[in-house]
Amino acid sequence: MTEPLQSASVASTTASSPPPGFVEKTPLERYLPPAKPSLVGLSRAQLSEALASVGVPAVQRKMRVQQIWHWLYVRGAREFAAMTSVSKELRAALAAQFTLARPEVVAEQISADGTRKWLLRLGDGHSGERRHEIECVYIPDADRGTLCLSSQVGCTLTCSFCHTGTQRLVRNLTPGEIVGQIMVARDRLDDWLGVARPAGESAVASSAGGQRLRQGGQRLVSNIVMMGMGEPLYNFEAVRDALLIAADGEGIAISKRRITLSTSGVVPEIARAGAEIGCMLAVSLHAVGDELRNELVPLNRKYPIKQLLDACRNYPGLSNARRITFEYVMLKDVNDSLGEAKALVKLLAGIPAKINLIPFNPWPGSRYECSDWEQIEKFSEIIFNAGYASPVRTPRGRDILAACGQLKSASEKLSARERLALRAMAMTD
Ligand code: SAH
Ligand code: SF4
Repeated sequence: MTEPLQSASVASTTASSPPPGFVEKTPLERYLPPAKPSLVGLSRAQLSEALASVGVPAVQRKMRVQQIWHWLYVRGAREFAAMTSVSKELRAALAAQFTLARPEVVAEQISADGTRKWLLRLGDGHSGERRHEIECVYIPDADRGTLCLSSQVGCTLTCSFCHTGTQRLVRNLTPGEIVGQIMVARDRLDDWLGVARPAGESAVASSAGGQRLRQGGQRLVSNIVMMGMGEPLYNFEAVRDALLIAADGEGIAISKRRITLSTSGVVPEIARAGAEIGCMLAVSLHAVGDELRNELVPLNRKYPIKQLLDACRNYPGLSNARRITFEYVMLKDVNDSLGEAKALVKLLAGIPAKINLIPFNPWPGSRYECSDWEQIEKFSEIIFNAGYASPVRTPRGRDILAACGQLKSASEKLSARERLALRAMAMTD
């Protein structure tokens, strides 16, 4: 559990919607580790301890860690038996104490544009913990494949336009459950090294067909965004540990420049993310003044816009090639006037920034509507004229879900999970 959670001001154990002034929720549940833990998500040091626990002598541990790391994160081994460079005895000893389990895939949906979403179930059913579900979305493009990961079951915060914000926080995900989402995606896409694919054809092409593809058998999952359910900076240690595993050059090997963490503005943790993770940053701004942002993102009462932008200015390694993405959800007659577009450009002056306008995805009972398309276009033109390119994120996977501005009645029939996935898709470049 991270510090901010421990110091949470109000617990949300009974209320279905948060009281006014409410900013942070406390988790309802604690993670209960399974009797046989998975090696997925352990750091090298923790893996070394696991090896020590099954009697591997100290002199051999470093080499064994290297081997297992390779089998896990380069080859995607799902059972110890596959680790042919590891002795039979050690494989058996490991299998007696540990698993290589990732979250269980409960459902998979594939859109005609190649977008895939997986409903994943956590836990093993033996620890006594309720088996919570999270969702993970893969969005292929011509030059990249982006995976959108969740960091919490529910969210600590209470943003008024976000469906997750109205729900309870159940608990933080573990590093294994965060890395496990990447493992599942690579499993389902046959995206591990050594998987033979016909030349010029990707796993997505051979199994689903018809969608836009990247050619040449290159790795399908090339980018990661922490933009699913949850506020990653309220689960700092687990997110950091998971992203460092994802970026490890001898394993999953997704460069930190291709990993983006989105935060609603947990100011004290922004510098820490820069120092300890070093990935790209996205900030959910959504308003140009504190009064409106207090309403949309109540965390703003704790960390107002000026503090947030100061933290952004100090984020390490910024340049024109490494910009902070500012997310701005388009809410009809709330934050979408052309005056606000001009104010937005002014506010961000001097920060190497990208601006992503996100069409609002409605949910049942939400008090907002998505801005009209013409208004989004006019708003984006002002941003464009100020020198920011392609600012509107197009929703993907329309056929397996729905999209902003499309049939409202259809979107009201969507489950909470589907709305989450829809939002995640709209979120990704
Ligand atoms: N908690 C983090 C990351 C997850 S939310 C954050 O808030 O940044 C990812 C993005 O989806 C955020 O920019 C969030 O503001 C946006 N979002 C949430 N609900 C939305 C909705 N209904 N429509 C459009 N965007 C939404
Ligand atoms: Fe949490 Fe992000 Fe939703 Fe706000 S927008 S409630 S921080 S998931």
